[in-house]
Amino acid sequence: MNCTGSSLPETPETGQPLWLLAELTYRCPLQCPYCSNPLNYDQQKQELSTEQWIEVFRQARALGAAQLGFSGGEPLLRDDLEELIRAARELGYYTNLITSGMGLTFERMQAFKDAGLDHIQVSFQASDAELNDYLSGNKRSFREKLEVARTVKALGYPMVFNCVIHRQNIEQIDKIIELSIELESDYVELATSQYYGWALKNRDHLLPSEAQLKTAEATTNRYREQIKGKKRTQLIFVVPDYYEERPKGCMNGWGNLFLTITPDGTALPCHSARELPIEFPNVLNDSIESIWYRSTGFNLFRGYEWMKEPCRSCDEKEKDFGGCRCQAFLLTGDANNADPVCAKSPNHHLITDARNNAEQNNPANSEMIYRNRKNSQRLIATG
Ligand code: SF4
Ligand code: SF4
Repeated sequence: MNCTGSSLPETPETGQPLWLLAELTYRCPLQCPYCSNPLNYDQQKQELSTEQWIEVFRQARALGAAQLGFSGGEPLLRDDLEELIRAARELGYYTNLITSGMGLTFERMQAFKDAGLDHIQVSFQASDAELNDYLSGNKRSFREKLEVARTVKALGYPMVFNCVIHRQNIEQIDKIIELSIELESDYVELATSQYYGWALKNRDHLLPSEAQLKTAEATTNRYREQIKGKKRTQLIFVVPDYYEERPKGCMNGWGNLFLTITPDGTALPCHSARELPIEFPNVLNDSIESIWYRSTGFNLFRGYEWMKEPCRSCDEKEKDFGGCRCQAFLLTGDANNADPVCAKSPNHHLITDARNNAEQNNPANSEMIYRNRKNSQRLIATG
């Protein structure tokens, strides 16, 4: 890594990278068909060393980063995770481990605690072994996750129970909520799938109908009322933008708050941005300060100059920044377009067509495509 010192930012109006996501590895024992890792992840096997990661943490912290998420793939597959947690803690980060829980032992969790880890997020795919193991492509996963979640609580960590919600599991949302309460989760993220990468490939299998969504939201509200004042569990239900008429203010603005570093050191303004046809900088060649303030990739969609109509003259552009650049590119082929989720976009029919398809439950592919090396290689070969 090349650290070029700490000269003052050239664009002081740019926000600080307060949230650092360290994707430590793309290796993972699970095969979730909605995984946010790139389709061609099997082409990207290189990983930063322990020292290189610690240098990333140091430089980002110097720029103001305060929260550090250890993610992947499965971050537990890095043998140096304890060392990375300790270094991050010493630098003053609030640290969060985002894990599938696979292979996490009591001893290792204790070691993470000793190293200063603040928070653990355990992901589940469903509320029972059959569906959970089917969706994760791993026959042991539900059993292991249950054990890990119980140990997380036994060790006194605050726990986020995360379950990506989609057509395959939305009908059992009541059971998913009951499981999360039984496990004494502090926060429960019922986040509906976002359609990039693997999830976009599997969209016909994953996008729920509007009626399914409304029922799921009503069920979540019912449980919120039931547990109010009795349990500490907080239920968070995130509606998919496919059923909105305006896009979300993606990442709170491009290059404004979030910084993702991929396993090989590529720096991204959001974890899906690797799907864009943009040459992003790498921490092995440039300092984080230079990447954040001066690289082409991070400046490309800052401000409003890059916008096309209808965003350019829209009075809502300061609210949503034209929506998600990855979604605009993946659906329309041009990252400068308005996010098609917006009803003002001339491409909005791409979203309404997908909604209509979800009503008819008519997948174009007969099988879901699991996120695994074989499928990644096949997708690399077919471009
Ligand atoms: S979404 Fe599933 S396959 Fe992807 S990194 Fe997470 S656990 Fe692994
Ligand atoms: S036209 Fe563009 S800026 Fe206006 S609401 Fe739609 S996405 Fe947002």
